[in-house]
Amino acid sequence: MGYESMSAREHLYKSEAIIIRRSDLGEADKILTIFTPNFGKLRVVAKGVRKVTSRLAGHVELFTRNQMLLAKARNLDIVTQSETVDAYRPLHNDLSRIAHASYASELLDAFTPDALENYPVYKLTQEIFALISEDTHPDRVLRWFELQLLNYMGYAPELNQCVQCRGDLQPTTNGFSPAQGGVVCASCRRMGVGRDLSVNALKLLRLMQRNPYSAVSRVRLDPDLSGELTGVMQSYITYTLERELRSAHFVKNAGAVL
Ligand SMILES: [Zn+2]
Repeated sequence: MGYESMSAREHLYKSEAIIIRRSDLGEADKILTIFTPNFGKLRVVAKGVRKVTSRLAGHVELFTRNQMLLAKARNLDIVTQSETVDAYRPLHNDLSRIAHASYASELLDAFTPDALENYPVYKLTQEIFALISEDTHPDRVLRWFELQLLNYMGYAPELNQCVQCRGDLQPTTNGFSPAQGGVVCASCRRMGVGRDLSVNALKLLRLMQRNPYSAVSRVRLDPDLSGELTGVMQSYITYTLERELRSAHFVKNAGAVL
């Protein structure tokens, strides 16, 4: 097929897109990081959207879901049209919810590779923005999101047997070891492995790991328990991401040597 017969239409594609990050490019453009149902995470360019006259600007806002028409380009694809289908408006009216959405977006960005389709994670992203907009306990939403995202990306912490001795867990204070990737039994904990993990925290982690949010939304989360869960998940995610970043760096360097 000759170049002349390629119509512009063949370079265009439609996609739903949730905007999880934006940064300035040049004088008037923005780079958007979007999550899509069929192409995974992409970085695309929205041209001229920092000019007051831009018609596109109102439809490429951060933390919104849009129907986009994109044009293939040599480097980053270009947003030619966009229409916001869900603005998640309550989220944008509340600083705490904006902070929660920022955290969810950062986590999503950190754990997902570019341009790899992951429809379940797209659906999860859509759900998480709706929940952060509406739920009375955005912290509970984030803990559930973390466990679900880790499931989908293959980094689920082990919550059903001791990661040190492979023994069964008793309903007592056990431990949690980010480095070993999950829960340690009470006797391994006594030998200094990991940090304390209460019975209730373990129950909730399991509930959140295995169930849709509707099952979790009925759980009352007091501040102590919420703090404990946050600490456990932070330690695990930090450890996992650092390990991943190190190994990605190693792979990159190994590739350069070969
Ligand atoms: Zn053990």
